[in-house]
Amino acid sequence: MIEPGAQTRRQILRAAIGGAAGIVLGARVRGVGAAQAQATSDSPGTLRLSDNLFVVRIPGEANVVAHTGADGVLLVDGGSAGASDALMQAVASLPGGGPVRTIFNTHWHPEQTGSNERLGTAGATIIAHENTRLWLTTDVTWPWNGRRFMPLPKTAQPNQTFYATGELQSGIRYGHIPDAAHTDGDIYVYFPRENVLAVGDVVSGQGWPAVDWATGGWIGGIVGGLERVQALADAGTRIVPARGSVLGMAELKVQSAMYRTIYDRLTQLLNTGRSPGEAVDARPTKEFDAQMGNPDEFVRRAFESMWAYLSPDA
Ligand SMILES: [Zn+2]
Repeated sequence: MIEPGAQTRRQILRAAIGGAAGIVLGARVRGVGAAQAQATSDSPGTLRLSDNLFVVRIPGEANVVAHTGADGVLLVDGGSAGASDALMQAVASLPGGGPVRTIFNTHWHPEQTGSNERLGTAGATIIAHENTRLWLTTDVTWPWNGRRFMPLPKTAQPNQTFYATGELQSGIRYGHIPDAAHTDGDIYVYFPRENVLAVGDVVSGQGWPAVDWATGGWIGGIVGGLERVQALADAGTRIVPARGSVLGMAELKVQSAMYRTIYDRLTQLLNTGRSPGEAVDARPTKEFDAQMGNPDEFVRRAFESMWAYLSPDA
């Protein structure tokens, strides 16, 4: 399902590409940013960003950001259902840990929404973009591998949704990242006191990203999303992706340059009538592969993702 907003996204992307000056070449694509070096790890798997803000990392799971306070715990994402017990134990043991009152879903994927049912049943507020709620109320099947996702029970669905932006009483701000880097419901959550920006899978801190074009994501959205995240951040912002390391502005700039290069090459391949397999064979990521890993799945999905957005007849 692709929304009629595709044209708008294309315009946004053009604007973003037009403004992509000052790119730092040669720096690392991923890794430990200078800002992260100040953080200390209180226990294995938990990265402390401040007295009351943490990245909880359960092995094999996506990152979860946990904010503790007198009025309860706030989470950005909730891991998969199979790891929910372990996550809740880890969160309860944080300094200032208590009941989870609020959880954001950065998008609909099971790796982010696996604690929704228990938290929703316990009365927590589940905040997400409206598109995320809609995906969680319907069957989704990925055409590339046949994987099928069933709707979540009503109690597990987001119960407070938004379209553009919002702010909590605590000052924590959130908003849609409308470029569709990963899905059409991607959001950020910004913690102003700590200058920490959680961005879900809009940015990858580890390896090639997944492009879920079945629910709106596309390679142009990765380029546009990276530009948008940079516009939300400053030189001191710590950016927490769903996968991998905490990033800084320098790494985002390097990623922007890399994905813009790949996007341009894939666009040329599309415009010359190539198939996804031919796009993979053309090795459009070749100078990045040593650092980023085998690109075949990413290139195939990224190429397919352009059909809906850029094909002349779309
Ligand atoms: Zn995802």
